[in-house]
Amino acid sequence: MGVVNKSLLSPDSAEWNVTPEGDPRGYIQPRAIDELWFHTGTGCNLRCPFCLEGSMPGNNRLQPMTLTDVKPFIAEALALGTKQFSFTGGEPFMVSEIIEILDHALDFNTCLVLTNATEPLANRLGRIAPLLGKAFPLSLRVSLDYPDPEKHDAGRGRGNFSLALKTMRQIHRMGFNISIARQSAENEDVEAVNRAYQPIFEEAGIPADTHIVVFPEFHEPGSHLDVPHITESCMTTYKTAAERDQFMCSFSKMVVKKGGRMRVYACTLVDDDDEYDQGGSLAEAMQARVMMKHHRCYTCFANGASCSEL
Ligand code: SF4
Repeated sequence: MGVVNKSLLSPDSAEWNVTPEGDPRGYIQPRAIDELWFHTGTGCNLRCPFCLEGSMPGNNRLQPMTLTDVKPFIAEALALGTKQFSFTGGEPFMVSEIIEILDHALDFNTCLVLTNATEPLANRLGRIAPLLGKAFPLSLRVSLDYPDPEKHDAGRGRGNFSLALKTMRQIHRMGFNISIARQSAENEDVEAVNRAYQPIFEEAGIPADTHIVVFPEFHEPGSHLDVPHITESCMTTYKTAAERDQFMCSFSKMVVKKGGRMRVYACTLVDDDDEYDQGGSLAEAMQARVMMKHHRCYTCFANGASCSEL
């Protein structure tokens, strides 16, 4: 990792740069923006108690974006060689200009939207259909937390497991790419749980081999967890350079609208900590080293968590 260069550290707080034990924190030096995420706001039609973004109806912690907000970042990202634009929330299909935003982004790159595939998407299928004719493909990743309707609906509301599957079947038949995101349990047999989805997919009329992205527990925004601190030494002793390159903050950024301003954060997982606000442009953000201070950094370190499908 080399000698600490003060000019590359941002912000300049002791807590950011050094662990409570006095060791230099581990960090990632961003190398590219292969994927640029847009957080379309923390408004959601559902009220899931486990939401890592704290999203729910009326939540305004992160505000919805307009096409005018997004356009300059798409232009800057294209100049930097970004290969994919991805959209998360909240529920992106709650955002009034989401179709216009996707219509613009799909002129330039592949796009991915994370969705709960309930009413906001189900009610807009007619609006997304024309996006099939764009220059680049649109993929939708649907949250289907467990291969168990009752367990899924306990968090997301009665009937939403079957509604999500029905909407998935419709968007798959329309010709969009689909995948799912699910939650994992500690010490689970990952392959066995993934296999438990296959009969559900088959019965719903979607491909049995639909890609599954597995997420660990991320906890609610603002949570303070007692996790081990990651030092520079941890990052070089336990991770190779190639493994450090796989951290999302090495190859992606996330743009959010906070306090009415468009800001660039280090990744999709740290928007509840303003020390990960890396500036108002992608170029500025690329200058900033990403310190492994957030409790979710430990999840990345220990479990290799990633929102990316790249
Ligand atoms: S949560 Fe993971 S991807 Fe985000 S800044 Fe921390 S280590 Fe990087």
